Amino acid sequence: MYRRENGSLFLEGVQLSRLLTGEGGLATPFFVYSAAQLRADWQAYAQAVQGRRAIIAYAVKANHNPVLMQRLRAFGAAATVVSADELHHARQLGFSAPRLLLHGSGKRAGDLDAALAAGALVSIDSEFDLAHLEQRAAALGTAARVLLRVNPNIDPQVHPYICTGLDDSKFGMSEATVEALRPRLQKLPRLTLCGLHCHLGSTLRSAAPVRDAARILLPLLARLRGDGHPIDTLDLGGGLGIDYHHDAQASAAPLPTPSELLEPLWPLLDELGLQLWLEPGRSLVGRCGALIGRVIGHKRTASKRFLVVDASMAQLIRPCLYQAYHHIELLEPAAEDPAAGPAGLCDVVGPVCESADFLGLDRRLGIPREGDGVIVYDAGAYGFVMASRYNLHLLCAEYLIEGATVRCIRRAETYEDFARTFTDHEVSVP
Ligand code: PLP
Repeated sequence: MYRRENGSLFLEGVQLSRLLTGEGGLATPFFVYSAAQLRADWQAYAQAVQGRRAIIAYAVKANHNPVLMQRLRAFGAAATVVSADELHHARQLGFSAPRLLLHGSGKRAGDLDAALAAGALVSIDSEFDLAHLEQRAAALGTAARVLLRVNPNIDPQVHPYICTGLDDSKFGMSEATVEALRPRLQKLPRLTLCGLHCHLGSTLRSAAPVRDAARILLPLLARLRGDGHPIDTLDLGGGLGIDYHHDAQASAAPLPTPSELLEPLWPLLDELGLQLWLEPGRSLVGRCGALIGRVIGHKRTASKRFLVVDASMAQLIRPCLYQAYHHIELLEPAAEDPAAGPAGLCDVVGPVCESADFLGLDRRLGIPREGDGVIVYDAGAYGFVMASRYNLHLLCAEYLIEGATVRCIRRAETYEDFARTFTDHEVSVP
């Protein structure tokens, strides 16, 4: 959806640098999303599951902007949530049971109560989670359909902070734990076990770990069916990566498409007559979003060149949290090109008072003018949702581009918004 015309970067029909200039120039930093990219990334999943028993349940944690979520719902997405407030938000936007699923490794009573009240499917992460759900269902006099989250101990080859499928991860139960739970699972009058779930991690670059996980889960699923549970669902989570490197890592194998991810799974699912749930987050909303900032200044030290911009770890924490790579470019050609070689490389850093505040290290970007626009690509997932107000950089705006139209889909926070929850009153201690 991006293209360069005479060196100038366009997203759909909009010349991005024009958003920053003139009287009505937008305050930076901000996130910008492409409606066409969102639709294209949804369609890749829709086509991959066409004619199959499958539910694509958008992982709301990746980006909870209502306009994007409503579009995904209109396309046909269900929703996966990880807290009572995410569940409430999804319901406010029209997502409803049974196409609503609650996950969480530490669900609080309020999370469980919200899921029970909404009739949402609940993924059971641990023995205590099962006990808590039973207790809450009994207390509320209600019932729930559940999945068991199995941790298959498979290495998805991703950053340790976003790996969830190995047995040193806090998520899910081992096959042995689930095996040991089988007698108890038959005595749960309020809970109906209708499937198994696993999620191996995020930014997967290969379909093989997902297929391996399915192969581990299916015999267990068959045994649980044999125990009499009406199991009809296999939920293989989310996790498909996106090409954050653009062409900078030309040697890397191309990422699987949703079709390539799912193709080997259909025979396995068909054999047991199972419906597939998938929970993509990043691969649905990651590519459609970008973070836009302005150059504040440019400096050199004895060993480094820095491009200091007004976007930072406060809006996009992934580079400093996971050493994540995001491709970065200038919106317009640089005024000057640096010498080739290491002298030409610079760190793109923000204004936050932390050495960890970087968006990209050792990038070749030329020497722009102060005020020039910078784009950090593929920031639609785990961008705004992980933003903070660190250094009191208030939460920024979000815009949606559709053709030549630009809509504000979240205004920037004001100091008054920020200050609204502060108080100073005595609390009575029970
Ligand atoms: N489902 C579960 C249970 C998750 O934990 C996550 C993310 O960590 C997702 C889905 C979404 O993953 P991704 O955004 O990588 O597709």
